[in-house]
Amino acid sequence: MTRLEVHQFPTRSDNYGVLVHDPASGSTAAIDAPDADELLAALHEKGWKLSHILTTHHHQDHTAGNTAVKRATGCTIIGPAKEAHSIPGIDVKVSEGDTIEVGGAKARVIETPGHTRGHVSYHFPDNDLVFVGDTLFSVGCGRLLEGDAKTMWSSLQKLAALPPETNLYCGHEYTDANCRFALTVEPENDALRARAAEVAKLADRGEPALPTTVAQELDTNPFLRPSSPAIQKRLGMEGRPLQDIFGEIRRRKDRF
Ligand code: ZN
Ligand code: FE
Repeated sequence: MTRLEVHQFPTRSDNYGVLVHDPASGSTAAIDAPDADELLAALHEKGWKLSHILTTHHHQDHTAGNTAVKRATGCTIIGPAKEAHSIPGIDVKVSEGDTIEVGGAKARVIETPGHTRGHVSYHFPDNDLVFVGDTLFSVGCGRLLEGDAKTMWSSLQKLAALPPETNLYCGHEYTDANCRFALTVEPENDALRARAAEVAKLADRGEPALPTTVAQELDTNPFLRPSSPAIQKRLGMEGRPLQDIFGEIRRRKDRF
């Protein structure tokens, strides 16, 4: 089994870049290419040669580096078939259930629409890794820019169903602000209060609160917890469909 090395680095104003490296084959994939110069610098620092970009969605802050990085490295760009027309330099178009390979490591493509219509996540089951772009954030979730609450709720359920020990990498560091909102929705959640305290300390020191895990998000992330009796009570939505409760939490966050 291939043991991947993972390198996460801050890029642009609040994005994360991530590199995954298979030491046996030398293959290296970048999850998205927010900024070409910063991505090439990270590769140089690690001494890794880029073989792939795995694009999660078409937004500029995830694809701005595609063309220059492909020119510099000759990498193959993999991305969602459903928004291939707006992903610069795309070579391989993927859909739900497709398998891609980075050296000896296999990733399964999970369609997670909602933030954008074609958004995909990449799950490396043998390495307990999932890269979710702007679908799920720690203690938060992506804005519904091209999808409705029903679509996003079904995407989030796919991620929630991954093994709890799965390490979850996100496109942005919004964790500290997300915790402040989450505490207005479920202030009685002890796991959330502990996470918020931890994240505040990390933010003070300028350290990342990511990656997280599926288990930690299930315990703390209000967007994965519309079944929580405390949340339902606070929103006055006891017994309502979970996608509607999710939608109400999302609306409140948009106004927060
Ligand atoms: Zn985005
Ligand atoms: Fe983004």
